[in-house]
Amino acid sequence: MGLNIIVLAKQVPDTRNVGKDAMKADGTVNRAALPAIFNPEDLNALEQALRLKDKYTGTTVTILTMGPGRAADIIREGLYRGADKGYLLTDRAFAGSDTLATSYAISRAILKLEKADIIIAGRQAIDGDTAQVGPQVAEKLGMPQITYAEEIISADKGKVVVKRRLERGVETVESPLPVVVTVNSSAPACRPRNAKLLMKYKHAKTITESQNASEDYINLTNDRPFLNIPEMSVNDIDADPKWLGLSGSPTKVKKIENIVFQAKEAKQLTAADDEINELMKELIANHTIG
Ligand SMILES: Cc1cc2nc3c(=O)[nH]c(=O)nc-3n(C[C@H](O)[C@H](O)[C@H](O)COP(=O)(O)OP(=O)(O)OC[C@H]3O[C@@H](n4cnc5c(N)ncnc54)[C@H](O)[C@@H]3O)c2cc1C
Repeated sequence: MGLNIIVLAKQVPDTRNVGKDAMKADGTVNRAALPAIFNPEDLNALEQALRLKDKYTGTTVTILTMGPGRAADIIREGLYRGADKGYLLTDRAFAGSDTLATSYAISRAILKLEKADIIIAGRQAIDGDTAQVGPQVAEKLGMPQITYAEEIISADKGKVVVKRRLERGVETVESPLPVVVTVNSSAPACRPRNAKLLMKYKHAKTITESQNASEDYINLTNDRPFLNIPEMSVNDIDADPKWLGLSGSPTKVKKIENIVFQAKEAKQLTAADDEINELMKELIANHTIG
């Protein structure tokens, strides 16, 4: 009997190519100015799921993403690489969610899907950078969690065996199923798009995206239901609105500073304690660290 795997994937602004217009005057991320990408460690998470699918016949891989309509792009990307289906969790009520509200909404959505054996998330998203959502989802679902995974070695006989990469080295742990696993960027990179799958899913759309679609498209999807990307709203997940979005978010992002390092600030230092201390004070004072 195959596994039912859910991969949590986030669409993020490509903060690696931050230009001068990346930030709005009010200190928020100017998402329109930054290309939206598949969160890098979520691709590593997807690859781990696809390797289990290769290993255990009958395994299905489902992508779940919470975001605005355009986040359907990363579901298509997942389908092109081998995922079987995807769900877009989207609703205005999710706007401004911090990690608590995000993990609440995601856990409610997971409870509406087919019972999962393994939920695989990335260790961290490159925009919020908190690494909190994976562990919070596990907490809300009452599941064990294994973080910093580098390889999911096996998942059968009701348990999973995982190799973790930690600062102090590598360890191998096991846990009963169902379980939440978060994957590092030290894990193998995700396989590229598959040409056949690209042809199969290139017309895949959400109900919102296909609203203005032509009759031909409607006929096409009638014959190929796998082209429909289901959307899930607040009502679909029976969520309590007070735990969602801004109202459900104790963390408010007060201000985001755009720190672009200039070459002229380089300083030559010796290893003298007082010089290191002075540098630490300076880096804390200008919020580079701490
Ligand atoms: C610059 C910045 C700073 C922020 N600081 C904070 C903060 O300090 N505290 C706070 O609570 N919120 C913060 N937020 C909001 C936070 O980004 C969102 O709540 C976000 O949805 C989840 O947090 P994260 O980006 O840190 O994800 P992480 O917790 O780092 O994500 C870990 C993994 O969870 C999964 N995941 C995360 N979000 C989604 C999603 N929308 N859909 C599907 N899977 C997902 C992915 O697999 C991802 O790899 C910040 C946002 C920004 C832009």
